[in-house]
Amino acid sequence: MRADLHTHSQRSDGTDSPAGVMQAAAAAGLDVVALTDHDSAAGWAEAADAARVAGIGFLPGMEISCVLEGRAVHLLAYGVDPEHAGLHDELSAVLAGRTSRLPAILSQLSSLGISVSEEDIRAVSGHATAVGRPHVADALVASGHVADRTEAFDRYLSPGRPAYVNRRSAPLRTMLGLVASAGGVSVVAHPWARASRRVLTPDTVASLVADGLTGLEAWHQDHSAEDAAQLAMLAGDLNLVATGASDYHGTGKVNHELGCHTTPPAQFEQLLERMVVAGDAARQRDPSVRPTPWCRPAPGPR
Ligand code: AMP
Ligand code: FE
Ligand code: FE
Ligand code: ZN
Repeated sequence: MRADLHTHSQRSDGTDSPAGVMQAAAAAGLDVVALTDHDSAAGWAEAADAARVAGIGFLPGMEISCVLEGRAVHLLAYGVDPEHAGLHDELSAVLAGRTSRLPAILSQLSSLGISVSEEDIRAVSGHATAVGRPHVADALVASGHVADRTEAFDRYLSPGRPAYVNRRSAPLRTMLGLVASAGGVSVVAHPWARASRRVLTPDTVASLVADGLTGLEAWHQDHSAEDAAQLAMLAGDLNLVATGASDYHGTGKVNHELGCHTTPPAQFEQLLERMVVAGDAARQRDPSVRPTPWCRPAPGPR
C-alpha cells in the first residue's frame, strides 16, 4: 500500500491537471493519493473521477496557509467539508489575500525595471483558484527574466528578496478548530522546513494537540533523514499520526516526484480512522456538515 498524501495540481501551483495528477500517480505505482492544493478544494471532483477510473484511492485534502507566532505554517486538512461556513469564510479571506497581493509584487518588480502585468499572470495561472508566487515566477520565466521558478524565488520572490510581499494567512490554532468543525483532520505539512522550523518546537507541537492537531508530515524532501526520524518519534510520543508525501508540483518543483516519500500503511489506516471519527463527531454537532468524496483503492491487482 503506497499512499502519497500531499500533491498539487493546476488548481494551485502544480503543473498537471487534477486528473493528470491521479493518472501520473497510478503510473508511478501509487495506491492512494491526496490532492492538497493550496487553500482550495477546486480540484477534488475532477481528481476523484480520475482516481476511480485509474483504480487508485483518493483522499480530498488541501494545504492551508496558516501563521503561528509570525511564521508561516502549512496545514494539510483531509476530509473537510469545504462549504462549512467558518472554514469557507477563512479560506475565502486567504484566497482574497493571494489576489490582492499580486499588484504589490508587480509594482516591486516594476521598480526593479521588470515589467510583468496582471494579464501576464493570468496567462500562466490559467485554471488556478489559488494564485501565488509560483505563477509570478512562471510569468518571469515566460518573459525571459529568469530561467526557472527556482531562480525567480532566489532572485526576487523569497522572503528577504526585493519583490517579496507577505499575504494574509489563517491563525493556526483557529484553523485547527475550523478543520475539526468541518469534519476533517489536520496534519502539519513539512513542520521543520525553513519557515516553520523555528516556531514548531516539540513543546509547541504538543500544545497544538489540545487544539485538535491529528498528525505531522515527517517524511518530506525538506527534511533530513534525521529530522524525519525525530518527527516520527515526536508524533508517536504525542499519539499523532506520522505521514510521508512527495509534495508533488508536476514540473513546478524539482526533486518532488510522486511517491518519493509515502505514508506507512499503519499510519495511513490511523489517519483514515481518525478522519471517519472526526466526520461523525462534526456531523453530530452540526448535521449540515457534508461528507467528502474519499475512496479506498479498488481491491486486487491493478
Ligand atoms: P505563495 O503561496 O504565493 O506564498 O507561494 C508559496 C509556494 O511557492 C510554495 O507553496 C511552494 O510551492 C512555492 N515555492 C516556495 N519557495 C520556492 C522555491 N524556492 N522554488 C520554487 N517554488 C517555491
Ligand atoms: Fe506550492
Ligand atoms: Fe507547503
Ligand atoms: Zn505543498
